[in-house]
Amino acid sequence: GSTVEAASESEETEQRGPVPQGPYLNQMVLLKTPLAPRELLAHCASIERAAGRQRGVRWGPRTLDLDIVRYDELTIAEPDLIVPHPELPRRDFWQRELAELLPYAQSR
Ligand code: ADP
Ligand code: MG
Repeated sequence: GSTVEAASESEETEQRGPVPQGPYLNQMVLLKTPLAPRELLAHCASIERAAGRQRGVRWGPRTLDLDIVRYDELTIAEPDLIVPHPELPRRDFWQRELAELLPYAQSR
């Protein structure tokens, strides 16, 4: 029941963190969804599994990673779900992608 309202340009970024690996292809979408945050997280995990995501070393290479960066103006701080995503202040490409999508969010 979710629809993609807008999508950012995809952008290649170099690996960060402790595990050496190739670059990542990043893209952010603006989603309109009937799912509550926790349901959305579970659905993201099932899409990752369906895409054959292998969970190897923590922070290691992965085939697909779906994160919830923001959810409306909600603040959530639970053990397995933190919104806005805690990495947001440190990922400049997320800031750029958010800025790209903001006009679409405001015109809804
Ligand atoms: P990464 O931190 O690299 O995204 P994972 O995709 O394996 O690694 O995520 C690990 C856990 O992070 C997930 O199982 C999920 O419960 C938790 N998590 C907490 N907040 C969020 C969020 N905003 N979006 C996605 N996952 C989150
Ligand atoms: Mg993730």
